[in-house]
Amino acid sequence: MTSEAKLSKDDITVVFILGGPGSGKGTQCAKLVEDFGFVHLSAGDLLREEQQRPGSEVGEMIQNYIKEGKIVPMEVTIGLLEKAMIDNDSNRFLIDGFPRKVDQAMAFEKEIVESSLIIYLECSEEVMQMRLLKRGETSGRIDDNVETIKKRFKTFIESSYPVVEYFRKFDKVHTIPCEDSIDEVYAKVKPIITELFKQKEQK
Ligand code: ADP
Ligand code: AMP
Repeated sequence: MTSEAKLSKDDITVVFILGGPGSGKGTQCAKLVEDFGFVHLSAGDLLREEQQRPGSEVGEMIQNYIKEGKIVPMEVTIGLLEKAMIDNDSNRFLIDGFPRKVDQAMAFEKEIVESSLIIYLECSEEVMQMRLLKRGETSGRIDDNVETIKKRFKTFIESSYPVVEYFRKFDKVHTIPCEDSIDEVYAKVKPIITELFKQKEQK
């Protein structure tokens, strides 16, 4: 990784938005971008873009992982995130769907930058499945189908929820129930970020 030379770590704010598939991460991120001027990076979107990029050496591999609801090897995902952070030249990043495994969390924070806090959107599988199937009517995504959704839930429980527990040890996690309407969920998310920037200004 070459991040140290290219990203000045001192004044960068990184917030991770975590939650199961369909919990509403992308939806809440869009609202935070409007209010706080973050650059929003979705690990899933970056992987899908790379998968579709003509000439990509890892495109086919990414497609296979996504279709199986599995976690793409972290060298690929962290590489894409790092590149996007350098290209965007901002000091506020909202990263959604990452880290999805504890080793990703540790590598990112060691090699790139430490996160300020984590918002965990807590949702039942029943609600997430309903949302994903509805999204699947128009998303064109190869993974918004019942078979892959079940696999994604399994991956979330086995590999990604432990990331939330890992960050809890550092007192960094804000858990938000997210089965209410988009605006009701956002009414709980927004004050957390307002407070974060208030504290940063006071430093
Ligand atoms: P994620 O990024 O976590 O996979 P999305 O933000 O794409 O989830 O949301 C999944 C689907 O659920 C989208 O179609 C979105 O419009 C819808 N959605 C998101 N949040 C809510 C909510 N609070 N209530 C109802 N539908 C929601
Ligand atoms: P998402 O768009 O967040 O629903 O992610 C869709 C799929 O992309 C996941 O099921 C994984 O296969 C892959 N993916 C997304 N984020 C990551 C990540 N942080 N690490 C590895 N694979 C990921």
